This record gives sequence, structure tokens and C-alpha cells, in this order.
Amino acid sequence: MAVTLYRTPTTAADADEIADWLRDRIDESVAVRDRFLDEHRTDELPERFAEARVLSPFERETGNAMLGVVRYEERALDHPERAGGVLYDGAALQRALNPAIPDGERALDHLHVALLDRAVGTWGDHDGRWHKRVNVLGQPALVSIPGLYEAPAKPEAYYEAKRKTALLSGDAPPREVLENEVEGEFLVEGDPRTTEALKGYVLQTVHCWRTGEGFCDESGCRLSNPHRQPGVVAAQLRDPEFCERHAELYG
Ligand SMILES: [Zn+2]
Repeated sequence: MAVTLYRTPTTAADADEIADWLRDRIDESVAVRDRFLDEHRTDELPERFAEARVLSPFERETGNAMLGVVRYEERALDHPERAGGVLYDGAALQRALNPAIPDGERALDHLHVALLDRAVGTWGDHDGRWHKRVNVLGQPALVSIPGLYEAPAKPEAYYEAKRKTALLSGDAPPREVLENEVEGEFLVEGDPRTTEALKGYVLQTVHCWRTGEGFCDESGCRLSNPHRQPGVVAAQLRDPEFCERHAELYG
């Protein structure tokens, strides 16, 4: 049994620190490699990424494999700093990345966890729209850095302040202004607490792989999956780390 964690160019997310934290909690060996999209690049990936693009928040159908879009995806794979602003169907990305894992490493006894600089989502059958996600469980498991900042909703006052400043100045307000003005706790892009918060989300993918269980229902547990940012802060950055049941496994 082995876990391989893949780095991301985002400096706020330290895969090696996350791996150290994991090693203290599970018996399986934990290895760290460079970016998944560099380690396991196949010729099909740009087209698969193009096909996985979400076109509208309310449209199930994805994908635009026009040549220009495929070229864009090619460049984005080569230069991750240029990728951004696109939401991808997480399950489709997973299906695209699974065959890119070398044959001998794709078995169930070896979990691959890719930290990704892409926003990923899943389609909600119940409400007919796409939902951004922090992680997508499975093989490979995906953990989205933009998802950590964008998927769980920020306090309503944050969006309010953003709208107001944009109206007055035509620009998004500086982060510090929002942080000072808006009550409640939330993570913003490049947040220094990113690595700490991601530990729990990586463990969720490992926990699912080891036990077949999904997210924990207890708010405040690192294995829970809150819909709002203050819940994320409480679960990932405040004590206790785990609910009673999961403390027995990982505490
Ligand atoms: Zn729990």
C-alpha cells in the first residue's frame, strides 16, 4: 500500500509538509513527486482538458475541443502560471488522468493524489448546476488549490463589500481591505494557511481509499466537507483536529 502526492507550482501549498503530516498518521508509505501534469503527461491531455471545460454554470454539457482551445490547454499545461479562470468537470479530468498513470502503479494498492492549480467541479443533479469542489475522491484523487479558496462560500458581507468597491472604482478591492472589513473567517488566494488547510483535504482522499468512506458528518472534523469558509477554518485550522471516531484513527 502506498500513497504518492504530487506537488503544485503554487508556493502556498507545500506537498512535502503535507506528506510529513500524513506519515505521522498512516502506516502506508508516502512519496512526493513533482507536478502530476509534468510527471504523467500524455499527448491526449490538452484535448481531454478542453473537453472537460464547463461552459456554463447551469449546463451539464461540457467541452470545447476547437483547435484554439486545445492550443490554450497545451500552453496551460506547459505554463501553469497562465492557467486560470476555467472550471473543469472533475470526474472528466479524473478519467483523463487515470490512464496517464503508469501501468504498474494504477492498481488499488497505490493511491495517487494530485494537487492541482485548476478549479474543478461536479454537477449537481438535485439543483441542475455545477459546484466547485476542493477535492474529488478516486484515482487519481484531485485536490484543487483554487477550490480551497473558491468552493466553500465566503461570508455574504465579503461579496457585498466586493460589489460595492467594484461599483465605486471599477476594480476588485485589495484583499487586506476585505479582510479587515468583513467579519468571519475565510481563506483567500495565496493564504499562508493554505498548506495547513490542505492536509485535511488530502487525508480525506486517503481515508476514502483506505476505508471506502466519504466525508465525515461531524462539523469541526478534518474529514468533514463544509460548504462555507468559516466551517473550513473551524475544521482544518482549529482544535480538536478530529471527531472522536476519527481521532482514534488519526489523532
Ligand atoms: Zn470525523
